[in-house]
Amino acid sequence: MKLGLFINNKSEENRGGTPQLLVNPATEETFAEVSGAAIKDCERAVNGAETAYRQTWRNLAPGKRAEILFAIAREIRLRLEELAQLETQNIGKPISDARDEIGLGARVFEYYAGAVGKFYGQTIPVARGGFDFTLREPLGVVAAIVPWNFPFPITCWKVAPALAAGNTVILKPASLSPVTALKLGEICAQAGLPEGVLQIVPGSGKSIGDFLVQHPLIRKISFTGSTEIGVRIMEQGAKTLKRISLELGGKSPNIIFADADIQKAAASAPMSVFANTGQDCCARSRVFVEEKVFDSFVEKFLEATKKLVVADPTDSKTELGPLVSKGQREAVEDFLKGLDSTRHKVLCGGDRPGSKGFFLNPALVMGCETGDRIWNEEVFGPVVCIRSFRDEKQLVEEINASSYGLSGSIWTSDLFRALRMARSVESGVLSINSHSSVHVEAPFGGYKMSGIGRDLGMTAMEGYTELKNVYISDL
Ligand code: NAD
Repeated sequence: MKLGLFINNKSEENRGGTPQLLVNPATEETFAEVSGAAIKDCERAVNGAETAYRQTWRNLAPGKRAEILFAIAREIRLRLEELAQLETQNIGKPISDARDEIGLGARVFEYYAGAVGKFYGQTIPVARGGFDFTLREPLGVVAAIVPWNFPFPITCWKVAPALAAGNTVILKPASLSPVTALKLGEICAQAGLPEGVLQIVPGSGKSIGDFLVQHPLIRKISFTGSTEIGVRIMEQGAKTLKRISLELGGKSPNIIFADADIQKAAASAPMSVFANTGQDCCARSRVFVEEKVFDSFVEKFLEATKKLVVADPTDSKTELGPLVSKGQREAVEDFLKGLDSTRHKVLCGGDRPGSKGFFLNPALVMGCETGDRIWNEEVFGPVVCIRSFRDEKQLVEEINASSYGLSGSIWTSDLFRALRMARSVESGVLSINSHSSVHVEAPFGGYKMSGIGRDLGMTAMEGYTELKNVYISDL
């Protein structure tokens, strides 16, 4: 398969130069080559998006904009199986998860298509009389920079609200996972999105990313990725006062109180951290279990983990596919190599199940202490650390000492405790007796080093606008 940039509604596959090879992480075979964008292509993409913003998209009637976004959602659904198969080939995501995620992308377009006509300003009774009202106006050209772990849904989380609010978009997919993003370009063109409104520039994060972040015509960077790159974007974007939203890393807790439904909490704990082979910013990778139920919980957690199906991601029964790349598996293994055998205990996993593909069996680690690297840093692979706790107040202090604050789960049958915990844990997203972090209709994002701004819900759409106040004198 040959892929290339998508500019002004045209794919540009054969551009000469050395293409980037994409490797299927389950088979280690090359399955596609991608012609990446050079800086002059990015300049062309930005200029095209600026023209499209000024000449077509900004002034299109809201009803027409909504119609096009609905048409994109319909087209995604029609091509759901094809897109899911491509995602599985590209990043080794289990096919059943890939199907869900493509469906989620379609729902995001539907939600924001519906939002176009329900997004409005205020009239304000100002002290001096007259008539005062606010307008929500698009920013102009915005750039979306996305990671490889949930390529399609995160792309849709950014592109759909930005378009719905009247912006044009430059999309930079992660270099490991450009396939479904480029297909979205084709889909949008088929659905009637005018030329230049969505431009897609695959290629190196460093050169393209730096270029976009510093470009004066780009009004906002909406980024999802590592905290390290998020910090760099904020520094570099300061010179042009970029509007910025950053969805970054996490080290999320899964807290089990003794009064919880232990069976349910333990049965769901493995996929709360190992789903997507642990390559999930919301992975509940630190488990805190109240001392009284620690042994019984760990026994059940271990039993459920051993039943997980780690296998060929094209099989619908597979729950864990490979890691995305050789380098990613090695980075995860490094965390395990750094363990201290006199203190840490690996209850299962951490080994490679076969000789082909970047697979790794999920690992449960006990004996962690507060200063341990594996306890504090985002592993981004199938590894979980488990500890016990006795006191609720100390537990909250330990959780809040983390520099991250993205997500988390609290298991308890005591409503007062649930509310107390929900208010005291410093995290952008929390679930009580559940691990669900993402809802299309609700804001998603992090506290502290987990980010700034929110994706999803109407909050995200506001983030793609400026707020204008207009005053009319009645004198
Ligand atoms: P990454 O930061 O390496 O890359 C993310 C994107 O940024 C890619 O498109 C990459 O090409 C680009 N990039 C790289 N260098 C850049 C630069 N100098 N300027 C601008 N862009 C640049 O992250 P990744 O490895 O693709 O993804 C994993 C990380 O993403 C994890 O830390 C994970 O927690 C985080 N993540 C966060 C969320 C969230 O919503 N909070 C969701 C998914 C993933």
